[in-house]
Parts: sequence; C-alpha cells; structure tokens
Amino acid sequence: MTVQSVLEDIRNRPGSGETIAVIDPATEEQITEFKDCGREAVNDAVARAVASYQAGVWADLPGRARAKILWRIADLIEENAEELAQLDSMNTGMPLMQARLNVPTAAEFFRYYAGWCTKVHGEAYAVKTSGIASDTYVDMHAYTLKEPYGVVGLIFPWNGPVFNASAKLAPALAAGCSSVVKPAEETPLSALVLERIIAQAGVPDGVVNFVTGYGHTAGAAITAHPDVEKVAFTGSTEVGKEIVRTSAGNLKKVMLELGGKSPVIIYDDASLKRAIAMAAMGIFVHSGQGCVCGSRIFVQRGVYDQVVEGIAAVANTLQLGGPSDKDAAIGPLISQKQLTRVMGYIDEGKAGGAEVVTGGRRLDRKGYFVHPTVLTNVDTNLDLYRDEIFGPVVTILAFDDDDEAVEMANDTTYGLAAAIWTNKLSRAHRLAKRLQAGTVSVNSQLVFDHAVPFGGYKQSGWGHEFGKEGIEAYMKTKSVWAQL
Ligand code: NAD
Repeated sequence: MTVQSVLEDIRNRPGSGETIAVIDPATEEQITEFKDCGREAVNDAVARAVASYQAGVWADLPGRARAKILWRIADLIEENAEELAQLDSMNTGMPLMQARLNVPTAAEFFRYYAGWCTKVHGEAYAVKTSGIASDTYVDMHAYTLKEPYGVVGLIFPWNGPVFNASAKLAPALAAGCSSVVKPAEETPLSALVLERIIAQAGVPDGVVNFVTGYGHTAGAAITAHPDVEKVAFTGSTEVGKEIVRTSAGNLKKVMLELGGKSPVIIYDDASLKRAIAMAAMGIFVHSGQGCVCGSRIFVQRGVYDQVVEGIAAVANTLQLGGPSDKDAAIGPLISQKQLTRVMGYIDEGKAGGAEVVTGGRRLDRKGYFVHPTVLTNVDTNLDLYRDEIFGPVVTILAFDDDDEAVEMANDTTYGLAAAIWTNKLSRAHRLAKRLQAGTVSVNSQLVFDHAVPFGGYKQSGWGHEFGKEGIEAYMKTKSVWAQL
C-alpha cells in the first residue's frame, strides 16, 4: 500500500456524515478528506462484530492459532513500516525519525500478546462448602474460566496513531474479542493500512471493524451501543467522563487511559546533567503531546537556578520543524484548536505574573509550532498549572524537603505518572510509595515496556493496559462449581 493510495482510499470511503479535512499540522494544508461514517455505519460494524463473535470464527480458535496470526500482523507491520511511519509523520507532524521508531514498538504489541494467547487460564480451588441451608460440609471442585468480553469498542487519540491502535488491538485480539475500532478524526490514515494488514494476516471478516469519524458521532455511537460489552478508551479526562455517562445504558465495562499533569522531582543530590536533559525531553518531546509528559517540575532550592537555566538551554537548542525538515527534533501541535488552547494557557500565565524564561510564543511560520516554553514564578491557582495543557509548556517551582515535594506533586486531580531524580536510594523508594501516580520512574523518564502494566490513579484512568493486566482487561471471569 502506498502513501498515495491511502490518501485516495480514505477519500472514497463511504460515509453519511460531514466531510472531515485531514490537515498537515506542519503546513496547515489539507492532505486529504473523508466522510464521517455516520451512526448507521457504526451499527453495521457492531452487527458484523457480533456475528463474528457468535460464530466463534476467532474466539473459538485455539490460542496457538490466534497467536500465529498475531505474529503475522507484527511481521506485516514491519514490512509496511516505511508507509506507516510516513503516514503518521505527515498526519501528526512528528519527525519522521520518531514515527519510524514507533512502528516496531507497535509491531511488538502483537508479538508480546501472541505469547499470552496460550497462557491465560483460570484457576482451580479445592474448597468445602455447606451451602447456605446446611451445616454439612461437602467437597467441591471450583474453578474459574477466562472468557473474552465479546464485542469491544476501541477508541484512541491522534498523538501516536499506529502505537495507540496496536496497544488496544493486540490484547483485544489475543483475548478473542471482536471489535469496532475508531481512530481519531485528525489521524485516520495509518489505521487504513492496519485494516488491510489485519485482513491479510488472516483475521476472519467481521472480527476487526474500523470506523472513521468524529468522537461525538462515531465514537458516541460505539459507546452508546447496547451490543458493545466493553469500551477501551484512550483520550482526555473530559471525554472519558462523557464515555462513562453514555456507556451506562447497558452498564458497559469501561477502561480509561486519560490525561496527566505529571510531576518531576529533582533533588540536589541527583546527577544533574542527566536529570536536566531527561526532564527537558520529558516535557518537550512530541511538543508535549504525550500523556506522561512531565509538565510540572519541582527542584530542590539549592540547585533551582541551575536546573531552570539548564532546561531553558535545552529548550532553546531543540529545532522545530515538520517531517520534511531533516534536523527537526520536535514537530508542531496537532491542530489550530490545540494551538489556540496552548497559547491561551501561556497568555493566562503571562497575565497572572508568571515569568517566561524561554518560549511563550508560536513560531513565525506556517504550521502549529509553539516554542518550548519554561515558566517560573507561577501562581498555582492558575488553570495553566492545574489543567493538562498537552503542549510544550512546563512550570518549574522550588521545594525544600521531601514532605513539601510530595505535597506539591500530589496536589493535582491527575495521577498518571511521576519521576524522581535522586542518588539517595532509600529516598527514591520512600517517595515512590508516597506519590499518587500509576507509574513512578526513578532516575529515568518516558520509560515503557509492553510487559509492564500502565494505568492512571485518580482522574487519569480506570484499569490497566500492557502486561498480563492488558489482556485480562479484555476477559471476564466465570466461576464454576461442581459438587464431588
Ligand atoms: P479526546 O478525548 O478529545 O479524543 C480521543 C478520542 O476520543 C478520539 O478518537 C475522539 O474522536 C474520541 N471522542 C471524542 N469525543 C467522544 C465521545 N463523546 N464519545 C466517544 N469518543 C469520543 O483526546 P485528544 O485530545 O484527541 O487526545 C489527547 C488526550 O489523550 C490527552 O488528554 C492525553 O493525555 C490523552 N492520552 C492518554 C494516554 C494514556 O495512556 N493515559 C495516552 C495518550 C493520550
């Protein structure tokens, strides 16, 4: 599949809703356009998923047969790596090099979960029970069965299209579910390649059904559908709450991977050179459009000035540019809407007395580029300090001791990730326990592995992805009792 053929295919995809323009965020020019699929198309997709699940064409295959097909998907993703990377890069504006790195990571989701196809099982319990109306104990054989949820809805955002799609599709397929899959309206392109790959790899018709459209139309139709048993959603906390409401009709199970306002704590005993470099990349990578980006940095007072200067210096060396700019380290924001939002927060900070150490402005060129921005002297009541900005904007404040660092770090409604930079081992582990976040990194940031569970505390989510928890999220547990 060539990049050009994908741009044409999506244009010709049937749909009954509005026409949606796909914009290159680095140039603000239209790449292609497509029709919102509309509610009927979602209903059809769910019907196909239900039929495939009931027929058992996928769920009833032996685990080893599903595993082989998942491996084939991974191989085909790698065979199509360059097209996928180019599509994601042009569609999100991320540097091509970064998009190229995402593709093998996406493929690995299918290999990792191929392994789990043959390893998920229930447990047996040797118990005696008297029942409720007897005082005689009898031997029982009780065991659990792990069963796929059935039809699941998979909805995800634009910030890493192939990665986000694979993170959900691989465990859902491994578990034996059929699915309706909706990529973000901003970035539907690489999903079309995945759709082809999944069919080519041998996943039977109707098991995976892609729909393309807006969240409030196609997405909402999935979350409200009575035949969808579970929704796995990655996106903003605001939409996550909306999904909980619309899923209530049939009490869908809901898995949520939501936003963050992640703290990074840097002590005076840390290896400062590395801490500064990593904390800077931890917020500015992908122009701050990563859920675990460390957007609130807290620095022990003795090294505060040095760290602020260091992070601002890194910010000033990062070259911004689109996929065609070879030296670009970071790309633009995804959309005009996101640009307006990010600049609004920066303006709020300026008006509220924050000091702009560097950045604070968009680039004087086409494209939604914002200079990496470092703010100090920030009033912690401002929205910019409280809300997830999802842009290249960091606030840096000083602290004196552990208690103050923990209090400041935990003073947020989010709880996705946190990082600690210190060379004191006990302090690191003590703090890791006290921080209210689903992931805590010590002397590292932006760490990830397919095998390690990931999920948010507080308003950053419900449930876990990745690892064993990742496949169990797509399975329900049945208890079976037999009197011996
Ligand atoms: P978003 O919530 O606006 O949209 C995400 C997806 O939900 C899109 O596909 C969108 O079409 C769909 N959607 C929107 N409204 C919907 C509705 N009413 N019903 C059903 N679906 C709907 O998020 P975004 O702005 O595209 O993405 C950025 C957000 O994603 C940030 O908050 C970021 O932190 C979060 N995110 C979280 C993780 C994580 O793993 N925790 C990973 C990546 C991104």
